[in-house]
Amino acid sequence: MSIVVQKYGGSSVADIERVRQVAARVTATREAGHGVVAVVSAMGNTTNELLQLARQVSPHPSRREIDMLISVGERVAMALLSMAIHDLGHPAVSFTGSQSGIITDESHSAARIVAVRPWRIQRALDAGQIAIVAGFQGVSRDREVTTLGRGGTDLTAVALAAALEAEWCEICSDVDGVYTADPRVVPDAVRLDTMSLDEALAQARQGARVLYAEAVAYAHRKGIELLASATAERTPGTRIQVPPLPPRVAAITVDTQLEVFRSVDLIGLVEALTAAGAAIRAAERVEGDGLVLVDLRNWHDRAAFRLPTGARSEGLTAVVAATGSGVTADGHALVDGDRALSAAGVRVLGVTASGEALCWRVDPAEADRAQRALHTALIDGI
Ligand code: ADP
Ligand code: ASP
Ligand code: MG
Repeated sequence: MSIVVQKYGGSSVADIERVRQVAARVTATREAGHGVVAVVSAMGNTTNELLQLARQVSPHPSRREIDMLISVGERVAMALLSMAIHDLGHPAVSFTGSQSGIITDESHSAARIVAVRPWRIQRALDAGQIAIVAGFQGVSRDREVTTLGRGGTDLTAVALAAALEAEWCEICSDVDGVYTADPRVVPDAVRLDTMSLDEALAQARQGARVLYAEAVAYAHRKGIELLASATAERTPGTRIQVPPLPPRVAAITVDTQLEVFRSVDLIGLVEALTAAGAAIRAAERVEGDGLVLVDLRNWHDRAAFRLPTGARSEGLTAVVAATGSGVTADGHALVDGDRALSAAGVRVLGVTASGEALCWRVDPAEADRAQRALHTALIDGI
């Protein structure tokens, strides 16, 4: 029997009505003759609410206890979805990350998957049951509960699809696929029918929320094609395919979850940040002045960080990027993008260009305007 893995994000299971809709979508796939594994996120805003509780208790919560806490949201969602599927007359059984055989390293809050042993899921499928899995979590070899980083349910789905040799892996969300920019910010953004895994990886690495970067990287390593689709509508979605596509600016991205640090002692600063559990997104030293961009998503004890002598924080920043494989090769995109930002009155704080992304650092308050300007200049009409 062919196996299908479907991932449902937090907005897809935000309330009981939506849980029922997901149950109907899952059972329709089962009735079409597939074995189904449904991987779920926590309902709606649950993970943020749990983190808020932790912050009220302590400014520097233990990373182990954070993982114990935030892994709970997905357990609630999996049990409710399983119950809703039962009520539709189908046998279903829910599993935690640990029961699903998602084995990780020990890095709490941003753990990496080291092995996947989905024996229990396989047995459930063999018995004709629908398997429901709590996303975003795993277990270390010492049997500690770990989480995979914010947005990590996508990774659970991809890892299980690889291990179970699934027919396809579908990432179901509140948008009907991957767009050329965030459709909530850029009204002219269009859905991509297909994109390559290279392009999806470039986009995800720049922090576009729609696909989790580690999940795309995992799919890339294993050669797994993904389908990004809407939970609520039947549209074709976006097929994320293995073969590369010709170079193009595939998408404009914005990341606002970044903090800038500066120090003349760049390496000392990176050492201190790393020891404090910060994820370094970029670091550079120009004529003695060091700058570090830190990804704040999984740094839950940021408040406890003490700056080393001579270092300072410049607060939140945003990076707006034009992504796609080989985007730097044609210098026109950098020139056109920069001119468009200047014409839109966006103050550019820094520019970097790599093979897969042209990045402009801007004030978070100007990020949406910058995203629209870059989209008009580099994607509209192409
Ligand atoms: P889920 O909770 O289902 O995982 P996310 O919130 O993580 O969903 O991702 C979906 C959101 O990503 C959309 O609501 C959309 O606002 C945002 N987004 C950002 N960039 C894009 C893009 N290029 N294409 C589609 N959605 C995007
Ligand atoms: N619930 C987790 C989060 O909010 C994981 C996920 O949604 O993928 O980040
Ligand atoms: Mg997501």
